[in-house]
Formats: sequence, structure tokens, C-alpha cells
Amino acid sequence: MKVGILRVGQVASDVILELEQGLAKIIPDSVYQILEETLPIPQQSFDKKRKQFNSSLILNEIRTFEAKRGDFHRILGVVDVDIFSSGLNYVFGEAYVSGTAGLISLWRLKPGFYGENNASQSLFLRTLKEAVHELGHTLGLQHCSRGLCVMHFSNSIFDTDKKQSLFCGQCYLQAALAISRLG
Ligand SMILES: [Zn+2]
Ligand SMILES: [Zn+2]
Repeated sequence: MKVGILRVGQVASDVILELEQGLAKIIPDSVYQILEETLPIPQQSFDKKRKQFNSSLILNEIRTFEAKRGDFHRILGVVDVDIFSSGLNYVFGEAYVSGTAGLISLWRLKPGFYGENNASQSLFLRTLKEAVHELGHTLGLQHCSRGLCVMHFSNSIFDTDKKQSLFCGQCYLQAALAISRLG
């Protein structure tokens, strides 16, 4: 699977570099490329009342970007703004199940957001987990009931910290099968 990592708006490059290396170790038969091009955050995605960005509208732009390029199986967008999805106060990311686009936000993954020391290793690991999770959705995976599996739903940062960056055996097989079908 060929995955493009796309910065949407301003995103620190150390996180992106760590993400690229981490993903290659976890998802089988996949290659990653950090795109030089960056996408501006779509203005219409900003909700003035909530002072947050609508993740579905950003995700839609990423899908359009993917369709225009056509040279990647998946595009993973990364933003560093606070995002929400309808019905949820905030989300760490969003993806189309069995689709071509995924999105993660660094905003609530930063230890500083929770008043902790801004340790980069913690941010890198959380980012990796959320990225594997959203790419898993694009491979057709649903949420997994196993608490340690990366496909377990994260309701809060505690859930993200508790789970591993790896798929459980069952999710791994499903992901590997979906990837093999991409050709
Ligand atoms: Zn999910
Ligand atoms: Zn699982």
C-alpha cells in the first residue's frame, strides 16, 4: 500500500518524520511518502461558535486531493488544530471506512494540552497510534473490543495511552488481507 502523508496547515516536521518511520514498522507491505505540498485548512471547516474545525469537511478536502493525484492508495492528512465531528465534542481523527482518506489531529495528543510536560516521545507515540487507527479504518477495519488493540475506540487520551500501537492478531490479518487486495 502506498500512503501519502499530507500536512494540512502548519504541522511540525519532527512529528511527521517520526510518524513516517513508525508506520512503516507497524502496517505490513506499505510504503510512505511525506508530501512536499501542503493543503491549507479549508476556511469553511472553522466553526465560529465552537472555535473548532469540522473534521468531516477537512477529510472531504483530503479525499478530493487524493482523487486528483491518484498516485497513492491512501492519503493521511495531519492537522494541528482542534477538530470535532458531529455528535462528538472532539475527535483525535476521522477516516472513511474502506475509503482513501484519513485525518488525524495533533492538538489533543500533545502532553501540554493536559498540563503535562511536552515530552516529544509521548506525542510521537500517541500520533502513531491514532494514525494506525485511522489507516485501519480505511482498510475496512471497525472498532475492536480488545482494549489493547490499536483499533479500540479512544474516547479520551487515557484510552489512547492504554492501547498499543499494534493491531491485535485478528485486526492484523484483516489489514494484511485488505492491503494484499490493493495489488
Ligand atoms: Zn475509530
Ligand atoms: Zn483488534
